Amino acid sequence: MSNCPSRTCNPKAGSNPIPGNPQSFSTKDWIDRQVNSEIHEAMKDLMLDNNTLKKISTLFLQNIERGLKKDTHPTSIVKCYPTYVQDLPDGTEKGKFLALDLGGTNFRVLMVNIDSDKCEMESEIFSMSNELITGSGYDLFDYIAECLAIFSKKRGVAEQNLPLGFTFSFPASQKGLSKAIVVRWTKGFDCKDILGLDVGELLTNAVNKRGDLKIDVCAILNDTTGTLMSCAFKNRDTRIGMIVGTGNNACYIEKQANAELFDEPDMGSGDVVINLECGAFGDDGALDFIRTELDRVIDKEYPNQGRQLHEKMISGMYLGELARRYILKFAQQGLILGGKTSPIFETQDSFPTSNLSEIEKDQPGSFKLQRDILHQLGLEHATDVDCINIRFISQCLTRRAAHLASTALVTLIHKMGVKKVTVGIDGSLYKYHPHFRTLMIAKMNELIDPGYTYELMLSEDGSGIGAALVAAVAAKKKRQLGIS
Ligand code: ADP
Ligand code: MG
Repeated sequence: MSNCPSRTCNPKAGSNPIPGNPQSFSTKDWIDRQVNSEIHEAMKDLMLDNNTLKKISTLFLQNIERGLKKDTHPTSIVKCYPTYVQDLPDGTEKGKFLALDLGGTNFRVLMVNIDSDKCEMESEIFSMSNELITGSGYDLFDYIAECLAIFSKKRGVAEQNLPLGFTFSFPASQKGLSKAIVVRWTKGFDCKDILGLDVGELLTNAVNKRGDLKIDVCAILNDTTGTLMSCAFKNRDTRIGMIVGTGNNACYIEKQANAELFDEPDMGSGDVVINLECGAFGDDGALDFIRTELDRVIDKEYPNQGRQLHEKMISGMYLGELARRYILKFAQQGLILGGKTSPIFETQDSFPTSNLSEIEKDQPGSFKLQRDILHQLGLEHATDVDCINIRFISQCLTRRAAHLASTALVTLIHKMGVKKVTVGIDGSLYKYHPHFRTLMIAKMNELIDPGYTYELMLSEDGSGIGAALVAAVAAKKKRQLGIS
């Protein structure tokens, strides 16, 4: 069993100082003097100044308003789905809960033991083949039920009808806390035959068909909601959840009165968590004024062409490939690497986003980690100046991603009008990139209106523990209302 930290232990939270760092985060002097001038010029399209970011913020806010309103929702790009989560954990949640996490790099089953101010969890990762995630959705759900049965039997809870929270991190239109209609697939998944069907029902049917497993599907949620919940468990100021991992999305707490699609009675809080699905921001062309030629190439290369355009500039699934394309382009123009790359490097997806983290971990003047990567890619002929240019390309992409994510957060903080907000964030790009968090804070400090304070808090397993917490809050409510 691994312990999740208690409310009092939160090493990543706190005030937001910009730590002493060899890089400068808010001014132009992060650019090495030896960067090739043509490359510098070409990369200027990726350097978004504050006026541009403010314009993006205004557009984003307009998109959110459209998503929330009944008459504009059907044609809105940023969908703003009500999640039906009305309550945050208050510390009285207790018991064993199951959770599923589907929608990222791994599929996981978890059991979480919540005891007022702490929770313990056990989890297992189950592999998923490409055939499974692009085949029939019924087979996918049979497999999910099978994994759940294997996991529960091992722990002796298969017959206990434990409450379950299911983190389903794809666009889904929520119709109730445990009812969510699959709208479309993203991140490489594509099970067309279950589009328009209810995830809660698909899971319940797949489980019941087996006859060896009893569970109570309490909640279907998005990983952003799980992230918000897991941070709210430790910090009561949490009002936003964001993911910067394979994909990018966010949720926030909105007044029920403003969420026109929300059609359930107020249980007391007056609030409801809104899943923005803001990865789709720009899908109507609204962000074309900042998209580059290579953004368009990337969009064509991956599934869901013309979709998730905001996400495609921010998240881990795309940043590495964008960097590879830029490096390749400049090499082909003879500006770096002596005009020569390698067959491995010329292969799509040979340059994962984790490379950006490694490259930017090197201290100024050192290229040790970068050289290890280049060596593995057959680019050992890179000179120090090539390394400077490659680091510059990586920094430009990281900065743009961090600045767009910051802009979205500042927009939400201003929209809520709450003066002190904690933002729960999860995702490997945010977690492991050496500068992503610092870049976000520096930019948010520039964009945020006076009088607002905020904190970025790393979520400890939002999509796992967060899902269990949503189930726990829902199960408690059911008990209070006398629904068994
Ligand atoms: P998911 O979003 O799928 O639940 P993660 O939060 O782990 O999962 O995000 C996975 C994404 O993060 C991948 O696209 C990967 O490229 C990226 N990633 C993984 N490790 C790192 C790293 N060290 N630095 C930056 N990005 C990373
Ligand atoms: Mg995840």
